[in-house]
Amino acid sequence: DAEREVLTWELFGTAGRELATMVAESGYQPDLILSIARGGLFVAGSLGYALDVKNLHVMNVEFYTGVDQRLDMPVMLPPVPAPVDLSGARVLVADDVADTGATLKLVRDFCADHVADVRCAVVYEKPHSTVKCEYVWRHTDRWINFPWSTLPPVVQRDDQVLDA
Ligand code: 5GP
Repeated sequence: DAEREVLTWELFGTAGRELATMVAESGYQPDLILSIARGGLFVAGSLGYALDVKNLHVMNVEFYTGVDQRLDMPVMLPPVPAPVDLSGARVLVADDVADTGATLKLVRDFCADHVADVRCAVVYEKPHSTVKCEYVWRHTDRWINFPWSTLPPVVQRDDQVLDA
């Protein structure tokens, strides 16, 4: 429908290649890619292959509970990457979308103390995002349907409490 921005699997393939091209053409050579789960995993995998980077890390951040339904603030879920793993590295943070930007700000600030350089790559950025990403494929102010989260889960689980 007209109020949604729809990313198909096929278009996602194009987006990943084009985003990687932007990173490469800027001269940035990340030592590692830090994905923000879950949406950022797809983007990080795509960038990892296209940029020939094998060193991929994951951070779990929970913020949204539904369409435009948010917690008060994003929270890091365990396991949190060990700062020593990021030490002195050029990091490329990969996520699906910078909406409010709060999630990327949390991750960028977490990295900033430890790493040599941190830059963000996203498929979409919304105009009100507080974080301006270095690499953005498309800008939109609409709610985005991503191919990986458009369909409901095949099973409903009630045991999704992540305790350390
Ligand atoms: P932010 O912290 O920038 O507000 O939001 C970051 C996360 O919220 C995204 O990584 C994504 O998981 C979720 N999110 C924000 N906006 C959208 C959207 O338009 N569509 C979908 N499907 N998820 C969104």
